[in-house]
Formats: sequence, C-alpha cells, structure tokens
Amino acid sequence: MTPQGTLTRLQGSDAPGGPADSRYAPLFEPLRIGPVTAPNRFYQVPHCTGMGWLRPQMLAEMRAVKAEGGWGVVNTEYCSIHPTSDDLPYPSASLWDDDDIRFQAAMTEKVHAAGALAGVELWHGGARATNLYSREVGLDVSSIPNLSGEPYQTRPMDLQDIRAFRQWHREAALRAREAEFDIVYVYATHGYLLANFLSPVRNRRSDEYGGSAANRLRLLREVIEETKEAVGERCAVAVRFSVDAGGGADGEPREGHLREAFESLAELPDLWDLNIADYSYEMGVSRFVEQGALEPYVAFAKSVTSKPVVSVGRFTSPDAMLSQIKRGVVDLIGAARPSIADPFLPRKIKEGKLEAIRECIGCNVCYTGDGKSVPIRCTQNPTMGEEWRRGWHPERIAGKRSDSSVLIVGAGPAGLEAARALGERGYSVALAEAERVLGGRVTREAALPGLSEWARVRDYREQQLLGMTGVEIYRESRLSAADVLAFGADHVALALGARWRADGAGRSSGAPIEGLGAPAERVFTPDDIMAGRLPEGRVLLYDDDEYYMGGVLAEKLAREGREVIFATPGDCVSAYGAYTVEQGRTQARLLELGVELRCAQELRAFSEEGALLACAYSGREQRLACDSLLLVTARLPNDSLHAELQEAIAAGAGGTPKTLTKIGDCNAPAIIAAAVYAGHRFARELEEPETPLRRDRGRPNGLQS
Ligand code: ADP
Ligand code: SF4
Repeated sequence: MTPQGTLTRLQGSDAPGGPADSRYAPLFEPLRIGPVTAPNRFYQVPHCTGMGWLRPQMLAEMRAVKAEGGWGVVNTEYCSIHPTSDDLPYPSASLWDDDDIRFQAAMTEKVHAAGALAGVELWHGGARATNLYSREVGLDVSSIPNLSGEPYQTRPMDLQDIRAFRQWHREAALRAREAEFDIVYVYATHGYLLANFLSPVRNRRSDEYGGSAANRLRLLREVIEETKEAVGERCAVAVRFSVDAGGGADGEPREGHLREAFESLAELPDLWDLNIADYSYEMGVSRFVEQGALEPYVAFAKSVTSKPVVSVGRFTSPDAMLSQIKRGVVDLIGAARPSIADPFLPRKIKEGKLEAIRECIGCNVCYTGDGKSVPIRCTQNPTMGEEWRRGWHPERIAGKRSDSSVLIVGAGPAGLEAARALGERGYSVALAEAERVLGGRVTREAALPGLSEWARVRDYREQQLLGMTGVEIYRESRLSAADVLAFGADHVALALGARWRADGAGRSSGAPIEGLGAPAERVFTPDDIMAGRLPEGRVLLYDDDEYYMGGVLAEKLAREGREVIFATPGDCVSAYGAYTVEQGRTQARLLELGVELRCAQELRAFSEEGALLACAYSGREQRLACDSLLLVTARLPNDSLHAELQEAIAAGAGGTPKTLTKIGDCNAPAIIAAAVYAGHRFARELEEPETPLRRDRGRPNGLQS
C-alpha cells in the first residue's frame, strides 16, 4: 500500500517558512501569550466532542490530527475540576484526580509533538451540572433549580464552600500543569458557576461575594489570581468570558455589568477568549447566523486590554480571517467548527491550497454528539471521530489494492465522497449522474431558505474531483441495470438517494394514512417543493420528520405568500433541532412569519373538505379547513435498480461486478452526514481486509496501544 495525500507529510504547525501566499503572513506570525508562545494565529477553541473522560484515546488522536493540521493552539472541551461538576450524560473532560493527568497527558504529548500548544478549559458547571453520575449535591451562588431541567436545586455556597471551590480549581490547575498543558482556562460564561456569581439577577447574596459589582466579581478575580499564582509561571491563564449583557437583537450588543467586569479585569489574565452567552447565536446554524457574527460584540475589546484576544466566527475564508487580524478585531482566529470540518485548514492556507479547504456548512451535526452522548461526527469531514478507532486521517488514505475499476451511480453526497476518496486511493472510477448538475439532495436543498452553504458539500468534492485524472464524470447519464452491466466495472456502488413519501407513512403513523382521500394534485412532498411545484391556498404542512425540512419548507411557503398551518406530532416545531441549537430559532421564525402552529397533533385524514387532526395525547379530533397538504414524513430508498441488478446477476447476466453495494440514502435514508460517511467508508474499505471496530474503554490500567 502506498499512502497518498494531497499535502506534504508531517509538516506541523511549527514548520519553518512563511505561507505560499505572503498576503497571509500575519496569520502565521507567532504570538506570545503570557509565558508561552503560540506558533501562529489558528486557535482551536474549547469544543465538546461527546468523548470527554469516557473516551480519552479517541479524543487524544482527534486533537492530535488538528495540531498536525496546523492549529497553533488546541484546547480540550470543558474540563470538570471536581465531582460536584459532573455533566453526564454529556461527557466532559475531567481533572478530578491524578489518574486524569495520565489521560490528559496522552493528548498534550501528541499536540506538542506536532508543534502546537495545548490548552485546558477548567470548568465548574454550578446549577447546569446535575451530578447524576457522582451523586454530589450541586453548588452555586444561591439555591438555583437545575438549569438542565433536572428536578434538583443547588445548595447555596457558604464561605466554606467558596474556599473549597477555590481550592479545587487550584488543584485542577496544578494537575493541568502536570499534564503539560500550556494554557489553563478560567471559564466564566455560558451560565456556569462563575457566571452566576457575576450575575446581578442570580447573585442576591448579602456577604462579600454578592451585592455590589465588586463583590460579585470577587470570586472570579480570586480564581484568576490563584490560577496565575499556582501555574502562571509556566502556563498562560485564559479567561473565557462574555461581554454582552444579553437581551438585545442579534448583532446588537448591550453593555452592562459584564462589560464593566471585563474592563476591571482587563489586564489580569494572559488571554481573553470572548464570546456571547447565547449558544444559538454564538454557534448558530448557518441558516440563522453568518460567518463573523460576533464581531460587533468583541470588536471593542482590544481597545480595553493589552492582552491577546481570541474569538470565534465560523471563519472558513482566509481573507475574512486575515481581515480580523489586520483590523485588530482579534489576535487569534478562534475556531471550533472550521477545525472540525477541516483539521488541516491552517496547513492548506500555508501551502496555498485554498481550493482544498473543506468548508464547514454550519449544520451543527457536530454538536449532536454532545447532546446524544456519542462521539462527534461531521457532515463535511467523515473522518472526524474516527481517527483512533478506525485509523482514518482526514488527508491521508491507503493506496489502491489492485487495478480494479469502480462504477459509482449517483453523484449526491454519498456518490461524490466515494468517488473522491477512491480517486485519492488511485482507483479508476466512473461516476454516473442522471442530472446535469451534481450534488443530488444537497443541490436541491441548498436552494431552500437559509441552506445555501450546504452546497459546499458538493463544491468541495467536485473541486477535488476536477484534479483527479483517474475519475471520469458522466453527467445526464441515468443508468439502467443493463447500462450498469454493460459498463463491466469490477465494483459497482449505487448511491441513488431517496424520495419523500406521499402516503403519510412516517414515525408516528407507522403505515400509510388511510384517510388521504384528496386528489393527488392537492398532496405535496418536499420533492415537489424543491422541484418548484408549490401548493396553493391554505396549506397544511404535516411534519412527522421533526428535523429541519418541515421548518424550512414552512418558511419558504410563508415567504411565497401561502397561508401555512404547521402541524406536528411533536411538542414543538423541529424537535430534533434542539440538538443542533436551531429549534428555538426555527419556532420563533415561523411565528414571526405568521405560520399557525399546531403541536402534538397527528394527521388522521385529508380530503377536499380539509384535514382531520387528532391530539397526540387525548386523541381528541378536530377538523381543519385547508386546501392542500404538504407531507414531511419519511423517505423511500431508491433501491429498485439494486433489485433489478440482483435479479440480473442471479439470472447469470454478463458483466457481473465482483461487488454490488448500496451506499447512502438509497441504502437507508438519513442525514447528509450519514451519506458522506457511507461514501467515505465504502471507499476506505474497498478491497481491504475487514477490521473490527476498536472500542475506547478508557482502560483503568493504562492506555491501550
Ligand atoms: P445520497 O444522499 O445518498 O448521496 P442523493 O439523493 O443526494 O443521495 O443523490 C442521489 C443521486 O443519484 C441524485 O443526484 C440522482 O439524480 C442520482 N441518480 C438516481 N438514479 C440514478 C440513475 N439510475 N443513474 C444515475 N444517477 C442516478
Ligand atoms: Fe460544520 Fe456541520 Fe461539520 Fe459541524 S458538522 S463542523 S457545522 S459541517
């Protein structure tokens, strides 16, 4: 096997020499942060991974790949300092005891080996941590109901608790130093313990830690000072902080107590990591939030502090990054999602391979791992989370095993990714697509309101395929079974996608809805809308899918002047969107657009007289006057070609391939990330021996090799 790759091997972030395009030189200047020096301005901010202390080996390898890809600073996710801050089922990192040091050191060692700095985000969740694992009583500034919805309240911290907390923080910082971290965080935002002490709303204490602004600031000041005193000689001390008082319209910061707090602490830490407390904006989906959205909130900071400032903005454009540095908005380009979608983004800029950047699409599928307590995944980067357990590297793949030819039918995300990765392996690939434009569902969906960035899934792959001599693309080529066999490829992968059902069958009804008695021209599916066939009059949109499609289509129809009633068996609009932090904004958007919401309603019938809905709890039925019905329920895999081929092969037809595989939505309809993953996995595993899935159990007696 010959390893292939588009980038020079093992040239870490500290590799000598400037970028290929000297315009980008400011992004590659080192920067002193307290006692340490970042090799460049690419800063992977702390981000959750769904791995945490449960899967330390997967985590260490994933962070190592980012360091190798040129991120000058690589941070952990939130790292609990004590069992009173236990967030399971959401897996955080931890530095509770000396055993944790070993696991954390596995990451720092690899990050250092690639020439980057390693940072740790020390964290106490206060009333947002439930301690379901540790069963400790929660602690916070007062007795606050658990902010994650659990039926617990915190104990109000007395002075002894506060002293203990300061001691835990200090001890965790010392462990962090022992684990060889270079940057140690004090985390004072996002509604966690330190943020609640700062809050004039939550902090109603009458002792020296409450009341006046100076008193509310006392604990944070003490913790920063004590962290500096404990580890500051060797480690930089960073503060993650929000300077926005909240409550303003998007993009319109409001000054208040946090701005004052920032001004008063301005010179105390070595680094400010600034963001805003509202996750749905700070890390909002691209549908609602554009690149660089935090600039209005953080642009003032450098006029107040002489310390380095980092902030995020889902920056994927090197020019936008450069502009932030040159205009003095920030000193370091913070990134979570861009570093997930492309761990090698800095190196690609350095090597002048901008067209090879795999740009984040802002779908937030990466964030679902945290909410679901499973390892992180990414729509654009199918290797994310697979670095350790499958040995997948985002920029390197094993060479081909043979001179076999591969035919891929269908150029949606699954087919495109399979062709790209097989092309990189050196296989001779034919990619046949029925349409003129490639991309399948991403091309169609990217035309819907707010989803334009999804086209990046197609664009990155199409761009990569252009440079591959071994891959032939056949457009406007709808293949039949006979065509496929006539092609005579050694391996055939069918990536034919799926279509939306028009019979109402879905998650809640299970089977087709019997009472769909209306003429077919009054019943619509998302495929109709995407093909430009729109319903007229008063439209009932029935969303039994409960992810983004229903909300997006309701928005489209409302914007095109239709009267829309949105009914769903769920208790809210687009319920799954809670995992991608878009649920609240979706519901708000529909309300703003005048869409009538009918939650917890199941569709029983639809005829020329209108619809019959039933309450999901009581079963009570009600009639609804409407002219047309848009069903967003379930999809049917396009698998008939597969069945025809199987039949022909069984009958002994000529041109039989060695393998025939369904990949992506035509195998099992799912999210785009799953289709990309399926395409990638097919390419990785073609003609390779089967390998069992490695499991990271965080071995108690030492790390697994
Ligand atoms: P996935 O998400 O699994 O990649 P998509 O629905 O996005 O699936 O893409 C499937 C692609 O397959 C579409 O672009 C469609 O035009 C194409 N396609 C479907 N049937 C055929 C066929 N018989 N021959 C060639 N292309 C096909
Ligand atoms: Fe970006 Fe989506 Fe990947 Fe997250 S999952 S990094 S939002 S492309």
